[in-house]
Amino acid sequence: MSTSLAILLSALAMSAIVGLRYLAVSGGFALATRLRSRGLYRGLDRQIAREIGWSLASAAIYGIPAGIVAWGWAEHGWTRVYSDVGAYPIWWLPASVLAYLFAHDTWFYWTHRLMHRPRWFRAMHAVHHASRPPTAWAAMSFHPLEALTGALVIPALVFIVPIHVGALFVVLTIMTVMGVTNHMGWEMFPRGLVHGRLGRWLITASHHQRHHDRYACNYGLYFRVWDRLCGTDGGIGGFTGNNR
Ligand SMILES: [Zn+2]
Ligand SMILES: [Zn+2]
Repeated sequence: MSTSLAILLSALAMSAIVGLRYLAVSGGFALATRLRSRGLYRGLDRQIAREIGWSLASAAIYGIPAGIVAWGWAEHGWTRVYSDVGAYPIWWLPASVLAYLFAHDTWFYWTHRLMHRPRWFRAMHAVHHASRPPTAWAAMSFHPLEALTGALVIPALVFIVPIHVGALFVVLTIMTVMGVTNHMGWEMFPRGLVHGRLGRWLITASHHQRHHDRYACNYGLYFRVWDRLCGTDGGIGGFTGNNR
């Protein structure tokens, strides 16, 4: 098989995996939402269809750099992803997960703030905020330009920061689950966590929903560190009624 065909097939396979992962996780939490509070997404059928369309387009974009890097890893040993768990100290397993999440969060915070400048907002970010209120299907509902900014983060990080393949899977799982649950319109974590000491630093649905309500605060992805440091933390909202 020619090299370019192999790269193309790897990119297509990765796009399909990201798309199926999105459908499975968003579908699962949409079902959970239906069982928990029937009618929360009433009247949003057309919006949900748009969210699914943009999200599948984003999945295709996410798959391209990921597929190229996965091909290079398998064929040429690219990246600093390792599979021998003894290659680095054992503490590096959780530390690498935190390092990836923090690096992704930092990239997301600053690009997200930039995309809230009026011109950038119209060009790149209005698609994401067209979901009012967002649903579990909005996790990857991005304009292709915004999707591109997100698609490059993990494929770039694996060249810089060593990570075990299992820890990388944990990072991708957290990324997927939090992307969905932060948009689904209700809080799944216990009050004690969200309003407790840990909740002062972690972002869950209550924090990101306020970003969708007010726009000019709560730009972070996983942690409230940058929002707090830069004075953009607008606190966490409560969910009342059906949140409309
Ligand atoms: Zn959002
Ligand atoms: Zn935004």
